[in-house]
Amino acid sequence: MLDIAEDRPVAAALRAHAITLFPSGTSFSAQEGESVLDAAARAGVLLPHQCKTGSCGACQARVLIGETQLLNPGASALSAEDAAQGLRLLCCTSARSALQLECAEIPHIPGIEVRKLPVRVAALERLASDVIRLQLQPPAGQRLHYAAGQYVDMLLPGNRRRSYSLATPPGADLLELHIRHLPGGLFTDQVFGQLKARDVLRIEGPFGTFGMHSESEAPAILLASGTGFAPIKALVERLIAEGSQRPLSLYWGGRSRQDLYLHELCVQWQQALPGQFHYVPVLSDAPAADGWTGRTGWVHQAVLHDHPDLSAHEVYACGAPPMVDAARRDFAALCGMRPTAFFADAFVAQAS
Ligand SMILES: Cc1cc2nc3c(=O)[nH]c(=O)nc-3n(C[C@H](O)[C@H](O)[C@H](O)COP(=O)(O)OP(=O)(O)OC[C@H]3O[C@@H](n4cnc5c(N)ncnc54)[C@H](O)[C@@H]3O)c2cc1C
Repeated sequence: MLDIAEDRPVAAALRAHAITLFPSGTSFSAQEGESVLDAAARAGVLLPHQCKTGSCGACQARVLIGETQLLNPGASALSAEDAAQGLRLLCCTSARSALQLECAEIPHIPGIEVRKLPVRVAALERLASDVIRLQLQPPAGQRLHYAAGQYVDMLLPGNRRRSYSLATPPGADLLELHIRHLPGGLFTDQVFGQLKARDVLRIEGPFGTFGMHSESEAPAILLASGTGFAPIKALVERLIAEGSQRPLSLYWGGRSRQDLYLHELCVQWQQALPGQFHYVPVLSDAPAADGWTGRTGWVHQAVLHDHPDLSAHEVYACGAPPMVDAARRDFAALCGMRPTAFFADAFVAQAS
């Protein structure tokens, strides 16, 4: 097994190689110069992934046999130690020979296909001074099929794109996004400046596999920071609609009270599902003068405090990458969380 990292851009597609996945035995063909993740998607094989920028680690797989090439040196979140063990991130790895990979596979959900769609802005609503709820209307007869927890890419001029989680479960007429303003940001400056009802945007999706593991009945910790609440909202609303009995504990963290921009909705969920749904809001920067009597500190530390044993839980964590990384590390090290029971949607910044 060999890895070749080059500083120059990879040349256009050269040759195709057979990729075989274990333990499933699924195989498909990948061209040199394209990521194994893209090749799998082209062949209709859905592999775990999230950010597609080499940052989140969700598309990690082990090379059993074959030569690979790193497409974007510097982007991979893997340590040198992991890489030496044969681990690769498939979003930034291409094949240089036939490959055998040890890799999980996501069962295909009929009807879910990645599509590009023009969408009309149906409504913009300020949920907080720096958060807007954007509701998007697909063209008549062209509903987007997706799973709760997936995201879409906003297609911007110059081949740029920005990812946003879908905040409602599938089946709703409008697509709902929660967008936080990053002053100076390419897309969010437009949303908070010029964007208005009836404008048309272009999206592509759905992407991501966060939330597709939620068929189990294990108690779930739902951990969100800021607009990381959006995919969690889609998951909770889906479970409520299905009448799930699964025990759910939502920990939502922000700096100040306004960051918990749908706090009342969470309180309603707790009232509607007594004993099943538990809501813990946590503020990291709450002056006593604000009258906040709830929990304070880092949101993942509130989970550590309340759940010293997470060995029987699944954890779904969404939002700021440092929060997601700290949760992944500390829950496994201090609370016995199984690494395979941690599912994350880290809102990493896109490259350009
Ligand atoms: C899978 C996925 C899902 C996402 N879902 C959401 C969502 O539901 N709601 C949402 O508001 N955002 C979400 N994001 C983040 C979003 O894609 C953009 O990165 C963000 O909105 C900034 O875009 P921009 O063009 O305004 O800023 P840019 O022009 O990209 O960046 C402006 C500045 O802000 C920094 N920056 C960019 N993103 C972040 C960040 N997330 N945190 C801190 N600093 C940052 C950049 O490094 C740069 O300095 C998601 C990201 C991913 C990968």
